[in-house]
Amino acid sequence: MKGEPEHNVAGGCRARTPSALHCAAMFQYRLEDTQGSARAGTLHTPHGEVPTPAFMPVGTQGTVKALAMEEVEALGARMVLANTYHLYLRPGHELVHELGGLHRFMRWDGPLLTDSGGFQVFSLSAIRDVHDDGVDFKSHIDGSTHTFTPERVMDIQRALGADVIMAFDECPPGGCDRVTAEAACDRTLAWLARCRDRFDVLQTEADGPAQALFPVLQGNVYDDLRRSHAERTLGMHDWKGYGIGGLSVGEAKHDMWRTLEILDGVLPADRPRYLMGVGYPDDLLEAVARGCDMFDCVAPTRNARHGTAWTSTEGQVNLKAARFKRDTAALDPMCDCTTCSRYDRAYLRHLVVASEWLAMRLLSIHNLRFLVRLGEEARTRIGNGTFEGWHVEWLERFRKERSNQ
Ligand SMILES: [Zn+2]
Repeated sequence: MKGEPEHNVAGGCRARTPSALHCAAMFQYRLEDTQGSARAGTLHTPHGEVPTPAFMPVGTQGTVKALAMEEVEALGARMVLANTYHLYLRPGHELVHELGGLHRFMRWDGPLLTDSGGFQVFSLSAIRDVHDDGVDFKSHIDGSTHTFTPERVMDIQRALGADVIMAFDECPPGGCDRVTAEAACDRTLAWLARCRDRFDVLQTEADGPAQALFPVLQGNVYDDLRRSHAERTLGMHDWKGYGIGGLSVGEAKHDMWRTLEILDGVLPADRPRYLMGVGYPDDLLEAVARGCDMFDCVAPTRNARHGTAWTSTEGQVNLKAARFKRDTAALDPMCDCTTCSRYDRAYLRHLVVASEWLAMRLLSIHNLRFLVRLGEEARTRIGNGTFEGWHVEWLERFRKERSNQ
């Protein structure tokens, strides 16, 4: 914090000297409607409200790839995610802090979430040693060696200053054996206790932002481990929300759905549930139907860079296809994004085939809006009691059209 006035979105409030009571009020989750297990609610943060279900665009390096933050705001995103691992390595969390924190650095005044870096350490860094104290790893950028401990990860996320921060967890590969999954659960719980101790100390500092710490639930595809890890995590503290980790890492879809159904029966109704790393349209909707509230995924922008877009009328399409050469229709006639309002498929195909930068930008805007709008529509349908029939029809249509590609 540098002493100058904060610029917040409407309804936001920045706690400069957060008291425990103030923090508790700021990160309340209000559950507003349910239909079956599907939930509509609102998460309150110091930088504004997040209506759920909500898709959060991923700003890996403090940027949602190819887009300016005003474009991310214009497409309706309410909360954005950034990656601790990447920002720690480059430009460094101390520099971001010195420049006023991540909100200010990336010019995003809305709610912000940082992950713990755990997933990237386990998936990106080339060489590592996992031990009870933390993880030793080598940077994927220059090979330099680093150590993440639970305390260190809290310090880094404190310096970045996101509203919601995630506990450091061990995320074993999808489909790992039971002994490995069980050991990861135990280690994740031990690290969670250390994260919380450090977090509590950091939150007493007078000049920092108010933050909420979400634990990450593990247990792979083992039902009893999923249940026991969630129950032990709940027993440790009255957390403000819960991250569901270790899914969408190579396991079968039916394992993911069954896991979410188990957790739906264990997790408290009045806390948000963040399904980490899940965000293909049909997966998002399946998870909403099983009680999940918040989502993130790099797929919308990554697919855009490969010329792939999601549509309401034809499922997933690749704009390189010759059939779009003279197609003057909007990419998705049901979509209200700036890409679909202004450009046609023939032009978008030309941009994709010519590898023009604008193709990545326009398709990123559309794909992100597609997921944000899917969350908005699910929320409306849960509110007016039409979610159950709508979501089944939506999934059937999307998958049928995708399988026809
Ligand atoms: Zn669109």
